[in-house]
Amino acid sequence: QAKAAGRNTVRFFDPEMQARLRERSVLEADLRLGLGRDELRLHYQPVVDAGGRILGAEALVRWMHPTRGLVPPLAFIPLAEESGLILPLGQWVLRQACQQLVLWDRRAATRHLNIAINVSARQFRHPDFIDQVEEVLGTTGANARRLKFELTESLLFHDVEDILGKMGRLRARGVGFSLDDFGTGYSSLSYLKRLPLDQLKIDQSFVRDLLTDPNDAAIVRTTLGLALSLGLEVVAEGVETEGQFDFLRRHGCRSFQGYLFGRPLPIGEMEQQQGLLD
Ligand code: C2E
Ligand code: MG
Ligand code: MG
Ligand code: MG
Repeated sequence: QAKAAGRNTVRFFDPEMQARLRERSVLEADLRLGLGRDELRLHYQPVVDAGGRILGAEALVRWMHPTRGLVPPLAFIPLAEESGLILPLGQWVLRQACQQLVLWDRRAATRHLNIAINVSARQFRHPDFIDQVEEVLGTTGANARRLKFELTESLLFHDVEDILGKMGRLRARGVGFSLDDFGTGYSSLSYLKRLPLDQLKIDQSFVRDLLTDPNDAAIVRTTLGLALSLGLEVVAEGVETEGQFDFLRRHGCRSFQGYLFGRPLPIGEMEQQQGLLD
């Protein structure tokens, strides 16, 4: 035991570790400021049907750092979760997406489109989450039926009854639910049955080598079969080639997302690319 403690002490004074800790706290302070300074952006990536027609989009956050440039979400979302900044950040994302839905509602070409946002476990578990959603839906006037929350299996490490209750309340309000990165977490299949989900998203790590790795192909086929029998929609993530698209279609997948159809882009560029502008 003393040995273990000794090792921890040594790690704590490791200069590399110190530098990383310092870097983190600088970034956290920057993010706190950045939130107030309007440095966040939403990019939108199309989700398409088997004919390549747009069904909606996933909103993906970016941070325009004044000196570092565009910071990808994986570089600051974990930090935001640990520091609690995920709450104001998540609220901002939700408000932006709802405002976009209202704009889309005004035009015939975009009226039918959905927007999915990522909601992190820490954000969803927060006691104020439902009130925050109600507040944003109320002030923006967005149609909750066009809104989908992407959750990950990590949510299930916590009080599942509480999570089920919250999902039920939001669902009653019209919000849909998607299980993101499906297959990468540790959820048991029994949760799939209990959670009021509309959709599974097959993680891009299974799609990537679909055509060359028989194990990935088997996982994808099994997931599609499972989802079908549970009455869940499936979105394949990370579709980059026609070959992957064909395989997925042949095995019953109906919704697709990936660079083949469009990268995440600022709203105007995405609309232009998808032919949504008049
Ligand atoms: P995710 O929700 O699984 O989002 C999909 C990620 O895959 C996005 O990365 C997207 O740019 C990328 N992607 C899409 N198509 C392709 C493809 O064909 N090939 C490859 N290689 N990648 C593709 P991004 O935007 O860097 O986001 C990473 C993660 O950060 C997201 O994974 C999500 O977990 C998280 N995230 C993004 N925005 C938010 C947010 O507003 N709130 C929260 N809580 N998390 C967010
Ligand atoms: Mg997602
Ligand atoms: Mg995903
Ligand atoms: Mg992911």
